[in-house]
Amino acid sequence: MQEKHILIRIEQCLALAQASNCPRRKFGALLLDPKRNVVLMDGYNGGPRGGSRLCGGEVCLRDELGIPSGTRIEIGCHHAEMNVICNAAAAGVPCAGAWLIVTGEPCLLCAKLIHHAGITKVIVVQGGYKGENGIDYLKQNHVEVEWRSLPQNPKSLQESNVFKRSGSEIEDKSLPK
Ligand SMILES: [Zn+2]
Ligand SMILES: [Zn+2]
Repeated sequence: MQEKHILIRIEQCLALAQASNCPRRKFGALLLDPKRNVVLMDGYNGGPRGGSRLCGGEVCLRDELGIPSGTRIEIGCHHAEMNVICNAAAAGVPCAGAWLIVTGEPCLLCAKLIHHAGITKVIVVQGGYKGENGIDYLKQNHVEVEWRSLPQNPKSLQESNVFKRSGSEIEDKSLPK
């Protein structure tokens, strides 16, 4: 996958995480096709789709019950990684050979799903949540893990040529002649 696209997808993943209504933490996950440089599917953490409020509404059930991170993962949100894999399954999008960008280290259960779905590489955006125990599992099962730092200056990406060309093209077409 081209470096330019990886950087853009990291920004996309961070923006997507904001869609989460979890009062505890917001995570995003993007499934990528590394050969075609495109997003195949996305997901973020939260309650059941169109269903009950698993997360506890305004307060996090995990905080309320004093459950330490990385334990009792059946309580709380669906994780972003679970959701992106379920979204892919629902839409018939293949995960085999795909890459995944996540905004925090996957937990053990998500690591199991990632590996078994055939995802070959996970890019973890640093600055997100750390300390889950899925990373070792991924490595042991030959899923490549790469850490990326948070974009230092998001404006620099907008000012770069990445966006300039398409912007001017749109402008040219919309201007009255
Ligand atoms: Zn939550
Ligand atoms: Zn998880």
